[in-house]
Amino acid sequence: MSGELSPQVAANELGFEGALRPATLDEFVGQSKVRRQLRLLLDAATIQQRTPDHILLAGPPGLGKTTLSMIVAAELDKPLHQTSGPAIQHAGDLAAVLSALTPGEVLFIDEIHRMARSAEEMLYLAMEDFKIDIMVGKGAGATSIPLELAPFTLVGATTRAGLLPNPLRDRFGFTAHLEFYDEDELSHVVQRAAGLLGFDVAAAGVSEIAGRSRGTPRIANRLLRRVRDYSLVHGTPGDVEAVHAALTLYDVDAHGLDRLDREVLRAVVERFGGGPVGLSTLAVSVGEEAETIEAVVEPFLVRAGLLSRTPRGRVATRRGWEHTGIPIPDAL
Ligand code: ATP
Repeated sequence: MSGELSPQVAANELGFEGALRPATLDEFVGQSKVRRQLRLLLDAATIQQRTPDHILLAGPPGLGKTTLSMIVAAELDKPLHQTSGPAIQHAGDLAAVLSALTPGEVLFIDEIHRMARSAEEMLYLAMEDFKIDIMVGKGAGATSIPLELAPFTLVGATTRAGLLPNPLRDRFGFTAHLEFYDEDELSHVVQRAAGLLGFDVAAAGVSEIAGRSRGTPRIANRLLRRVRDYSLVHGTPGDVEAVHAALTLYDVDAHGLDRLDREVLRAVVERFGGGPVGLSTLAVSVGEEAETIEAVVEPFLVRAGLLSRTPRGRVATRRGWEHTGIPIPDAL
């Protein structure tokens, strides 16, 4: 094993996430359908020398939405302006961003479902006609001044597409639904990142990391980093033993569940008799935000067949009970 970082990563070890981001659509692993859809959209716009339609990226955290927004800008050879829904609390915040865009610029709004309502309305007009109305003054003397914007492409990202109002959703020319990655794809992500880190990981170790990454590249990269730390400190190769030792130390179990996943599952089983239990009650009982449980923990537990969502609340499945090691009551 070598502790040497590749120059690209060494220059940016603190911004590790950034250094591992694929820079082009061809380098982006997996999501082949979305890649083909994006490729067509971008190529058509390039042929016609116009800005591409606005793009909505929907899916759980860590699947590559920010990365794809950067790739869209890079493929178009245009600058990227990044902001997020929570940073846009007033229409004025959005007006400041929109009026500073240069022709063809890509505007990325992460967590777009969390933008202020007043800004959403301004965005409708901006997306459709590349103009906005700026309100000047208050009360009876208020007037609106129309402002022309440079044509731009909006890339919105959301973990909760269902929360977007229809008029906003309808103004995107294309919605990409990002799926969790399968183990082969995650192995590819891990191998690629290991190469960039200058860290040799045995094939069995790569599969082991991929299998514990909950279908999520960001997690795969994070686990790889912990295994690299372990090998570096203990002077061991990046073999499957190092993977087991490092991931056990960080409480990631053989199925990829971490401390919070296990706490949620255990709470459903132990405190609520296996459910059904409502999201907010569950969140309070584990001391976590309901939004984190809903966006991060649940999709994974449901996908792993450990939890199911019913109209009456969350219910642990038989596999879920088995995973906690708590005996299943006869009635189930
Ligand atoms: P969030 O919504 O939480 O910000 P995200 O969906 O925007 O998450 P990114 O920040 O784009 O996720 O990706 C997380 C990390 O995973 C990045 O470091 C990136 O390098 C890596 N990654 C994501 N998708 C891929 C992919 N398809 N191929 C290789 N690496 C990827």
